[in-house]
Amino acid sequence: MPELPEVETVRRGLQRVLVGQRVSKTKVLLERALEGDPKWLKGREVQDIGRRGKALLIEMDQGLTALVHLRMTGQLIFLPKDGGPREGGGHPSDALVHKLPSKHTRVILSLESGDQLFFNDQRTFGSIKLLDEAHLALDSFLSKLGPEPWSPEFSVDALYCACQRRSRSSIKSILLDQEVVAGIGNIYADESLFLTKIHPATPAGQIAKKQIKPLIGKIREVLERGIEYGGVSARDYVNAEGLRGRMQEQLYVYGRDGMPCKVCGTVLEKTRTAGRGTHFCPKCQGSL
Ligand SMILES: [Zn+2]
Repeated sequence: MPELPEVETVRRGLQRVLVGQRVSKTKVLLERALEGDPKWLKGREVQDIGRRGKALLIEMDQGLTALVHLRMTGQLIFLPKDGGPREGGGHPSDALVHKLPSKHTRVILSLESGDQLFFNDQRTFGSIKLLDEAHLALDSFLSKLGPEPWSPEFSVDALYCACQRRSRSSIKSILLDQEVVAGIGNIYADESLFLTKIHPATPAGQIAKKQIKPLIGKIREVLERGIEYGGVSARDYVNAEGLRGRMQEQLYVYGRDGMPCKVCGTVLEKTRTAGRGTHFCPKCQGSL
């Protein structure tokens, strides 16, 4: 599932190609993929691409915002009029853009320039929600969302308090809670806990206050690294140009169970914590 670095990579890609473009036509292939009247999009100009946590906000004129949740398998792929991946893209064999629309395409936005934006979603958990200013302010997802990881609100005190409040929950489940901090999912939770030598199943109440500062530091560091490498393409994730990320090669534990720890050589293990497959090193992070 795309997490903050993957969604941020898509955001940056769309920012380059979509801002200033005007929508000419919207084709909805799966009705529940688009919430709101597709007619609202006609003639709207894209003014900015924002992100909150794992959600994208395509901001248009007249106060219209398309709130996009990629969820499990969602993709937003930009196809320029002349087709093919754009300059600066990765290996052409990685590009999905030659196969658009695919059987997983749910919504197609045609732009006045002749370019197109495809919303693909194999598992159909993703969505595009059209909101005016009033409804954006009231949106139940956005209004409950916690601070961004780099926000001063995501402080040592705030995270320590969250751990104390839910002292019997695992530290991993605290990191996955989007109301505590926005944007962390399974991959970056496992990676940041490895980098701070904390076992993911550790009860949050047992995390000492002095461990919190390095944990926040490593969370920020690993997310920044994720953005730098264009995100993790474990499964369906691709960027706005239809290209895969390279962060998977940088991971220490996620998806590496049965392989040696890059730090100590011990075979990495996989367990279930917070209802999710969880990867860790029994030596670096200890056992519970
Ligand atoms: Zn290790």
